[in-house]
Amino acid sequence: MLFDDVVGHSAAKLSLQRAVEQGHINHAYLFTGPSAVGKFIVARAFAAAMLCPDNGCGECNVCRRVTLEKHPDVTVVRPAGKNIPVEKIREIRLDAFRKPSESDIKVYIIKNAERMWEEGASTLLKVLEEPPGNVVFILVTANPGALLPTILSRCQEIRFTRIPPDELKEYLLTTRDIAPERADLVVRLTGGVLGRALDWCDEPWRLTRRDNVIRAARALGRADLNRTLEMASELLRDVRAPVDELVSRYQDKKDGLADGSLDNRTVRLLDKDLDEECRREQVKEEIRGVKEFLSTLSWWYRDILIWGEGGDVSLLVNRDLEDEIASESEFLNERNLLECIDMIGESMRAAEQNIPAQLNIESTMLGVQGVLYA
Ligand SMILES: [Zn+2]
Repeated sequence: MLFDDVVGHSAAKLSLQRAVEQGHINHAYLFTGPSAVGKFIVARAFAAAMLCPDNGCGECNVCRRVTLEKHPDVTVVRPAGKNIPVEKIREIRLDAFRKPSESDIKVYIIKNAERMWEEGASTLLKVLEEPPGNVVFILVTANPGALLPTILSRCQEIRFTRIPPDELKEYLLTTRDIAPERADLVVRLTGGVLGRALDWCDEPWRLTRRDNVIRAARALGRADLNRTLEMASELLRDVRAPVDELVSRYQDKKDGLADGSLDNRTVRLLDKDLDEECRREQVKEEIRGVKEFLSTLSWWYRDILIWGEGGDVSLLVNRDLEDEIASESEFLNERNLLECIDMIGESMRAAEQNIPAQLNIESTMLGVQGVLYA
């Protein structure tokens, strides 16, 4: 069953599965909880379960096409850039009144639903107020407070929480080729967020990147200004590497357009779309990289702080670096460490406001150096 492939969220899965089996399906659901925790995967599994003759077997043609987002009766809406265009919601409103193509039901999954601005939201509200009989909406959001209360009140809320560490570890061990200590580390570093944990398993360079950040942090005590800036630019290179890879992936996609199966005008349009999408993704990936750098740094100083307090090894995030943590804690004092962690928090907020990556990394490194080693 498709639901069995989803780790954690047993209460959510049970209630959705039951709704499908008993045929008590609501017109609108609101999936809430932290981002990357698995809401969307469950939404898709739920859509498949509603359409599949076997309540979501995971193997039939219906399940497969829903999972690949290729089923005509399941529409997935994602924001284009910062918002979900109102035109898209208007399209859905019209489409909702057309008969399903193959099934008895049509499903609309709206990702980041909080990014419907006023007009889009009120358009959707009109459908939710008098929904056609065979239509189900699933609104997925990490920030339900940003949705209209009138929309919220028409949806059944399904809450998602972080996955308990043991459950996540077990899942990583059974689905990924990974050693138990490594799985432990990934679970701690990603705080029970499934999407991130999978990234850490599938992209081993993330761990190398963590090691580079910690090595640089440990070298700060001995580094002069030039060396510190040099280290900052090495860390920036780490942050940019996946961004460069993304650009080359988009280039491949663009090259694929010119295989002669499309007319020139369509190729030009798609090419432009891909360029825009690539630019947006680049910005996102770079912010993500900077935030990962900052959180690695922050966890590192937190570990030293805990160790210095005589804390328990099991509380450390970077448990594999126990010796290094112990040796750092001899030189660093609690007040300065706390100040550093605060400062890194500031840098985190700056990253969200799109401060250039280079500036952010440099000023954080210099700031930490000033506090800890001046
Ligand atoms: Zn199926």
